[in-house]
Amino acid sequence: MRAFDAVVVGAGAAGLFCAGQAGQRGLRVLLIDHAERLAEKIRISGGGRCNFTNREVGPANFLSDNPAFCRSALARYTPTDFIKLVQAHGIAFHEKHKGQLFCDDSSEQIIQLLVRECEAGGVTRWQPCSVADVRPHPGGGFELDTAQGLVRAARVVVATGGLPVPKIGASDWGLRLATRFGHDIVEPRPALVPLTFDPATWAPFAALAGLSLPVEVSVGSGKARGRFLEDLLFTHRGLSGPAILQISSYRTAADQPLQINLAPDLQLDKELVDAKPASRRQLGNEFATRLPQRLSALWLEHARLDAARPLAECRDADLQRLGRSVHGWQLMPSGDEGWRKAEVMRGGVSTRDLSSQTMESKRVPGLYFIGEVVDVTGWLGGYNFQWAWSSAWACAQALAAVPAVA
Ligand SMILES: Cc1cc2nc3c(=O)[nH]c(=O)nc-3n(C[C@H](O)[C@H](O)[C@H](O)COP(=O)(O)OP(=O)(O)OC[C@H]3O[C@@H](n4cnc5c(N)ncnc54)[C@H](O)[C@@H]3O)c2cc1C
Repeated sequence: MRAFDAVVVGAGAAGLFCAGQAGQRGLRVLLIDHAERLAEKIRISGGGRCNFTNREVGPANFLSDNPAFCRSALARYTPTDFIKLVQAHGIAFHEKHKGQLFCDDSSEQIIQLLVRECEAGGVTRWQPCSVADVRPHPGGGFELDTAQGLVRAARVVVATGGLPVPKIGASDWGLRLATRFGHDIVEPRPALVPLTFDPATWAPFAALAGLSLPVEVSVGSGKARGRFLEDLLFTHRGLSGPAILQISSYRTAADQPLQINLAPDLQLDKELVDAKPASRRQLGNEFATRLPQRLSALWLEHARLDAARPLAECRDADLQRLGRSVHGWQLMPSGDEGWRKAEVMRGGVSTRDLSSQTMESKRVPGLYFIGEVVDVTGWLGGYNFQWAWSSAWACAQALAAVPAVA
């Protein structure tokens, strides 16, 4: 039987970073992953360039039943800390949009950074290797049944991630383990996911597939309200693009409608009426100066207005109705594209029984949960990786602070 100070299950973003940090603090660390290939989610992230953090990160960029839980870890290991590490590894990067940082070259560079950090910490990695069971050991710590034999560990870190993209190794192992050890689970559901609509309702809009435009989208009310100014993308089955991915995380009920302002920088109900005296254009042409051509044509058809009618001859009431419909499009998704297309999991191991300082279970001393398996879900834009780094760092610090018992 092999003995380690800590066994980290899951060699994704959080697991690799935690293992490397703990190893560099002098712990004997074993990192186990059941997937054939290392860190596939990092590899496919950010369109292959890994949006590894965001310059501006705070609790407001995360969703959780306990929105304050992430505060401590995010404050102790910040985007600046990770940026320094990226620079120390000589990785060139750039800012793309709203503080989002991407590798210039490839996400493989972030994987190599994490591998080198693990090597610097003397981390032992078994991959592919499954873990059949984890149980407390009567003498303290834990015993794990792995595909490579029995292992004894003073502490166990669960870093098995969320449920999205099952074909590259996602599993509910961490959630099941948490339940078995008495933890509550906040219902997992796909987040940062394209939304779908009833095919019959969507048929006219399907013709707009591929069209993208900046919108304001919102859902919910009060504290639970989400609102984003981002691009929306029409697809054959519904809506996608950053605006929709962001707002999908905020939908809490199937019967929650979306509000979309398709022209957030304009005030069309007023502008069209104001344009009447000077305009010699037909309504369709005037409208198309303010919205993408394909969308404006469809919208007029939808509003049952004659695109060929001179603007000057249109009734004010019709123009106001048309403008208002553009600014207040209300629509009800029928579902989403599910785990196959989701970028993250909303929900996970409830933070109620975890220490926000160390990520340690309050129910089972020595057991830790980090990364996406925890009920902390970031916005699109590098926030989920930052949570992986910050929670992993908080955990590694704590692992090193307590003497080993195994
Ligand atoms: C297409 C896509 C693009 C994304 N792009 C970005 C982005 O650009 N920026 C960003 O911030 N976030 C992005 N994300 C989200 C980000 O990838 C995750 O939030 C992040 O990887 C979570 O880190 P983690 O370590 O908790 O989980 P993961 O990185 O998913 O790692 C979990 C690991 O655990 C292993 N595992 C699972 N079950 C078991 C088991 N039973 N036994 C052993 N090992 C197991 C898995 O094989 C995996 O290696 C993206 C996600 C997707 C799907």
